[in-house]
Amino acid sequence: MIFPIKNNILREKTQIKMYEKIHFKDIINNNIQNFEMRLVCPFFQLGYDETKEVLYTLPECKKCGICELVYTNKNDLEFTNFDSLLSEPKYLAFLLDKLLPNKKHYAFVSIEGHSRNMRIDLVQKSNNSYTLINILNDEKKDSSKYNRAYKMLAEKLKIKYKELNFQVKTLGLKNDNYRNIITIEDLLKENENGSYSKP
Ligand code: SF4
Repeated sequence: MIFPIKNNILREKTQIKMYEKIHFKDIINNNIQNFEMRLVCPFFQLGYDETKEVLYTLPECKKCGICELVYTNKNDLEFTNFDSLLSEPKYLAFLLDKLLPNKKHYAFVSIEGHSRNMRIDLVQKSNNSYTLINILNDEKKDSSKYNRAYKMLAEKLKIKYKELNFQVKTLGLKNDNYRNIITIEDLLKENENGSYSKP
């Protein structure tokens, strides 16, 4: 895929703004202040041709869709290998924010757990509802231990924030009803109109 970008504006177009060092209470209080700038491609698969003034995808591109979201105005994405972002939760949060504009997503959220601080892979916020999402990827293949910790955390939060709703989900490559695993496609289908398109 090719994106025309003029040389003189390339520098400002190569990075995207993401949340950084988020604490759960900051989300509850709507007080997010930490951001960082990251390269558009999580897999370093964008090249630039100065002569033609185009960014282009390199052969190892995983077709995750992030660059297409950033650089085009198309309604439907051509690159939809969103599963490749299971290993990149911050980029997954960015993608879900764009495709599900009525919900907010935060990756690597710190929170006080039962005996120590925990890090939630992904938090999805929708009005008064919070979904704590445990992500299965190459780094973390087994969900059971983490699921227990996430569920205990959700119970604790229900007691602390009685007016809010909390649930736990596990996100993986394949649906697994027995192990309660859903996919990124399932998350996208939960959008109000049951579909997604670039806002
Ligand atoms: S589709 Fe994803 S992996 Fe491919 S170049 Fe774009 S951002 Fe990188």
